[in-house]
Amino acid sequence: MDTILYLAHTEADGSLSKTAKEALSAVKALAQGLGGGFAVGLVGRSVQAAADSIAGCGATGFFAVQGADYDVSRYATDTAACTAICKQAAATLVVAPATARFSRCLPGVAARLGGRVDTQCTGLVVEGGEIVINRWYYRQRMESLQTRTQRPWVISVAPCCFLPEEGCAGSAALTEVAVQVVTRTEVVGVEAPSADEQTIRPEAEVLFVAGAGWTKKQADGTTHMKEAEQHILGFLDGTKASLGSSKSLVDLSGEGEDVLSFMTHLHQVGQTGATPRHKKGLATCCHGEEPHVVGWRFIAERRAVNLDAGCGWAQGKADVLYVADAFAVMTKVNELLGK
Ligand SMILES: Cc1cc2nc3c(=O)[nH]c(=O)nc-3n(C[C@H](O)[C@H](O)[C@H](O)COP(=O)(O)OP(=O)(O)OC[C@H]3O[C@@H](n4cnc5c(N)ncnc54)[C@H](O)[C@@H]3O)c2cc1C
Repeated sequence: MDTILYLAHTEADGSLSKTAKEALSAVKALAQGLGGGFAVGLVGRSVQAAADSIAGCGATGFFAVQGADYDVSRYATDTAACTAICKQAAATLVVAPATARFSRCLPGVAARLGGRVDTQCTGLVVEGGEIVINRWYYRQRMESLQTRTQRPWVISVAPCCFLPEEGCAGSAALTEVAVQVVTRTEVVGVEAPSADEQTIRPEAEVLFVAGAGWTKKQADGTTHMKEAEQHILGFLDGTKASLGSSKSLVDLSGEGEDVLSFMTHLHQVGQTGATPRHKKGLATCCHGEEPHVVGWRFIAERRAVNLDAGCGWAQGKADVLYVADAFAVMTKVNELLGK
């Protein structure tokens, strides 16, 4: 029987992220499937509030590494903290959220434990008493089901694949874990764009995709770049949706054409871009060609706005296609949003 440990780190405000709570529900279901329990390990400046927020999750114990050294994402301290917790818990199976912070350090933790790691797992089940994980390969074209005999086995759970564990707050008793760590790296601050400038939002409810049509000549024979920007930014501001793009739109800058100032190659969705996991997606001025739509694999509810009734979205790729002018549609939508 595996000894299961759920590992998480706190956010800047001391809470647990949605991704962390999703991984917790995954580990809870896994432990139930195996007919055993699990322990929790938390890393952060001060983890009591986070531990209390999940006190009733069914964990057998709460291990903690806390202090100013663990406030920020830093390889040396995070790796040392997680390794120490895993050792103290005698964990053979470690499940953690695939946050940016843990994605950096977990492979190092597995190496220090002499174990193995599988990252960005999208499924975690028990079949015939065996743990089976789900991963995607080759830019999300191939799905695999994997088991492992090596232990300790460290598994990171991709965001948006499980419902977050909620409603289990209480009061948790922490077992402090001592860590010996030497680091030469001092974190002097964080430089990050403001939430409004940062338009790639993996945890948003909706993905808004802009296509090259926004930059094309419209019925009046001219382009309307400024209006396109206003429509898109107005919608993002009003809904806090995440922004995606077709390849054609982000490639325009390389071709010396007028571009939307906030669009980068990181926004590209598709075969050679990202495969986001939002629940809902709205494509605008985007044709819906297969190399683009393949990136919508995990988007459950899909809608598109296109002038062309024969565009790709109409070929079974969207649940609803609005055959309409996206400039007019977004003017109305933003009006309704009060933008
Ligand atoms: C190997 C390979 C890999 C690729 N990888 C990717 C990838 O990762 N991601 C990706 O996106 N593409 C990828 N592509 C390119 C892809 O095939 C398409 O060329 C691209 O997605 C087209 O972008 P688009 O739909 O924005 O532009 P267009 O094809 O130019 O379509 C613009 C659309 O906007 C509509 N439109 C114009 N004005 C309006 C308006 N006012 N209101 C409503 N609709 C309007 C038009 O009807 C048209 O359908 C790849 C291609 C290859 C060969």
